Amino acid sequence: MALKTKTLILGGGLAGLSAAYHLNALSDGDSLVVEKNAAPGGTAGSTTQDGFTFDQTGHLIHLHDPYGQRLIESLLAGNLRVLNRSSWIYSHGAYTRYPFQANTYGLPERVADGCVAEFLKTVHRPPRLAKRPSFKNWSLATFGKGISRSFMLPYNEKLWRTPLSRLTTEWQGRFVPKPRASEVLRGALLEQTTAFGYNAVFRYPKRGGSQALADALAARLVPGQLRLSSPVLTVDLRERVATVRGIGEVAYERLVNTLPLKDFIALAGPWPRGVREAAAKLRCNSVYCLNLGVARPRVSDKHWIYFPEKRFPFYRVGFYSNFSTSAAPKGTSSLYIEFSARAGDKVNLARLEPAVLRSLVSCGLLKDSDKIPVKLWKPIPCAYVVYDFNRGPAMQRIFAHFKKSGIESIGRYGAWKYSFMEETLLDGKRCAERLSGRAAADPEHGSEELRPLK
Ligand SMILES: Cc1cc2nc3c(=O)[nH]c(=O)nc-3n(C[C@H](O)[C@H](O)[C@H](O)COP(=O)(O)OP(=O)(O)OC[C@H]3O[C@@H](n4cnc5c(N)ncnc54)[C@H](O)[C@@H]3O)c2cc1C
Repeated sequence: MALKTKTLILGGGLAGLSAAYHLNALSDGDSLVVEKNAAPGGTAGSTTQDGFTFDQTGHLIHLHDPYGQRLIESLLAGNLRVLNRSSWIYSHGAYTRYPFQANTYGLPERVADGCVAEFLKTVHRPPRLAKRPSFKNWSLATFGKGISRSFMLPYNEKLWRTPLSRLTTEWQGRFVPKPRASEVLRGALLEQTTAFGYNAVFRYPKRGGSQALADALAARLVPGQLRLSSPVLTVDLRERVATVRGIGEVAYERLVNTLPLKDFIALAGPWPRGVREAAAKLRCNSVYCLNLGVARPRVSDKHWIYFPEKRFPFYRVGFYSNFSTSAAPKGTSSLYIEFSARAGDKVNLARLEPAVLRSLVSCGLLKDSDKIPVKLWKPIPCAYVVYDFNRGPAMQRIFAHFKKSGIESIGRYGAWKYSFMEETLLDGKRCAERLSGRAAADPEHGSEELRPLK
């Protein structure tokens, strides 16, 4: 006999957990979360090994919404540190402050002059841009050739693994700071400490890494509501029955998906014509995170560093032990190194690793003599959703059908978007509000949209 639930939630990452938590608060709480992993948290989960706690690349908490802030602060009460970002770029053999476009002070004079001169040209004679420009054209028109060629283009090529002439600008509004001309000029003449961008201040759990957030949310669910090690195998949308390994058939009335959209469409059905074709057009990259535990204290005083240049195989390096002293044993440091690849491309990690370690020595972060007792690779097969020109029309096609058939698909991967943890928690809340027809407690801010970020 099939198990019955009113709302079946696929995936126990932050989106699924938040949907279940808010459904409990808003309605009868009859929902079931099925998660394939043995622990909740998905992409925001952490692993502890030999006293080191590693996330899947540093997961820093950014708060922009009053409700999101209250929720996270209550979930992590007594376990939250507030930090002022110290993020840098390493290029041309020098460290400069993030964001590159506002901080060329410290670069070789020739490079800094070129960046500022070309930027000023865009201010005096703003280039004409198409209505929907590519990221490449937009960057050249907004920042000029110098900043684009030294940072914007090589860094984003490394991250997105997509020709930037095929990438849209839809994702960048919140994530790429756009300083004023006066700020670009000031940042070329002196080391300015203006806090640009959405993550100038961030929070991080004192203990437990980003896993602490998922664990706190999971602990607030009803016993038995979250079923771990239970991958969903198929969903029959017509019969409203899912098959879940370890449980069997689960009959549901309403379905909330948080799996990567392409995976969900592949395992569910039947679909009307066009949905699978649309899903085939969606692309993401994969991120490979190399976590290191190093037997030396404070290998860096920074939080994270961007590496735009091709000679470095990675695009970013960050330091967990600078987020929280409990992330690494006393007298050691811990760091993460991030690479990306096109989803589906084979990456030879055994070959990559020695090249990475050599690069870390070449830029002075590691020493030849360093002992590295822990090395842990964490692949994230679907990491960043690629905003190419196919994404918009494909999403319209898919979500028009979801709307008609009452399927909720939420979170960073269910909604196939570039978002962060607070927003993911709010996605779960809004989904529960739609399903229950009620606004979450806290009427003052309950249904407030995310405020635009600086
Ligand atoms: C490299 C990287 C760095 C990031 N850094 C930050 C940061 O610093 N700050 C920040 O706020 N956000 C950051 N994020 C974003 C953050 O990770 C996401 O917003 C959030 O974790 C998304 O949660 P989710 O529930 O939508 O997706 P997921 O966490 O992916 O949850 C989906 C769940 O579905 C499960 N699942 C998959 N298939 C099945 C199946 N067949 N059956 C059952 N379960 C299944 C997965 O195991 C997973 O638990 C980062 C993301 C990446 C990739």
